[in-house]
Amino acid sequence: MKLSKLALDIAESPTLALNEEARQLRERGEAVIHLGIGEPKNKTPIAAILASAAKLTSGEVKYTPADGTPSLKKAVIRYTEESYDRLVAPENVIITNGAKQSLFNILYSILNPQDEVIVLAPYWVSYPEIIKMCYGKPVFVIPEDGTFTPRFEEIERAVTSYTRAIIVNSPNNPSGAVYPPELIGQIVEMCERKGIFMICDDIYHKLVFDHKEAAPAYRFTKKDLEDSHLVVVNGVAKVYGMTGFRVGWVIAPRELVRVMTNVTAQTTSGVSPVSQAAAEGALNGLQSVVEAIRLQIQNNREVLLQEMNSFRGARLIKPDGTFYAMPDLRAFNGNSVELAKFLLEKALVVTVPGKEFGMEGHIRLSISGTVKDVTEGIARIKWALDSSSPNEIYIGDKKMIRDWL
Ligand code: PMP
Repeated sequence: MKLSKLALDIAESPTLALNEEARQLRERGEAVIHLGIGEPKNKTPIAAILASAAKLTSGEVKYTPADGTPSLKKAVIRYTEESYDRLVAPENVIITNGAKQSLFNILYSILNPQDEVIVLAPYWVSYPEIIKMCYGKPVFVIPEDGTFTPRFEEIERAVTSYTRAIIVNSPNNPSGAVYPPELIGQIVEMCERKGIFMICDDIYHKLVFDHKEAAPAYRFTKKDLEDSHLVVVNGVAKVYGMTGFRVGWVIAPRELVRVMTNVTAQTTSGVSPVSQAAAEGALNGLQSVVEAIRLQIQNNREVLLQEMNSFRGARLIKPDGTFYAMPDLRAFNGNSVELAKFLLEKALVVTVPGKEFGMEGHIRLSISGTVKDVTEGIARIKWALDSSSPNEIYIGDKKMIRDWL
């Protein structure tokens, strides 16, 4: 069968592939622990349920404006003012089918073939694939010092005359790193000087620990939004735990939003009004739900750090935000794909190989589940890899003996 070269070049989502393997194991009754996919375990906030149910029972579920309902845009404007101290106009806002479509739509609207987009490693797996789908070229910056935060000089060195944009994701999936404010300021200044779009994927911006703050790029610009090259992506998936509603949004200069609206109008026609009503409910409802998610994840992170303390050979840079951590396991196996496969087979723990995020030798752990998932998951990984850990363990009701170390 002859298919598009471009489409065939797009990689399968590694998290979804691993999920499928885990699902099959679970179906066979195996006690699988999921430290793979990242989504909070909370129930949908009640304000979101009520708002979307009201929309549904009205029986008026029709097309909405392609860039989103005026009332959701209003809620997004308020959110932006409260969270970022920035007042934006409705023409600066577009609602999308999740932050994922926000990113696709932005890149589709700004890239010409062969334009380059700088991606900071470790990076979210979808960035390079989305860039390629828009005929662009991802250019990776890998921190030379082995940390998860690139130095500004390394970023500046990657800029060429083809550079159109840089994607900045802080707090960062997969590392949990929160970039220092100075670095954000330097990137803003560079982008303004060189006319490069700075795309801030802020989807985790409220999920930070220990009273840290993810410094917003807006703070470092004196320019009016229309003259700036700042594009900020957000959504309800992570901060409100509403992954299934598929609602994200972009704040950008009007001209870009106008083009993105045309792209939306000719592809999806916009987001379901039921989902938009849910997002509006969440944004206008009690905000303590966000703090409840943040506290649960912070607690899980404490448990993770505690468990990792006794993991000989593993090195972990403490995550300051998100629900991910990425230990360096090169002492056991430099090939993270093999390692993740081994952990699933032997310990029935789902992880994601660091290679997928541009960090070979590491694995990404999601701590968005229960405390029990975290403690048992790490105990199993230690059992499988660390010869100094006890060589017997219960996996489900089966007693397992380690005979490979
Ligand atoms: N950006 C990052 C960094 C993410 O981790 C995710 C979700 N995994 C997204 C964007 C996509 O979010 P959504 O579910 O709203 O499409």
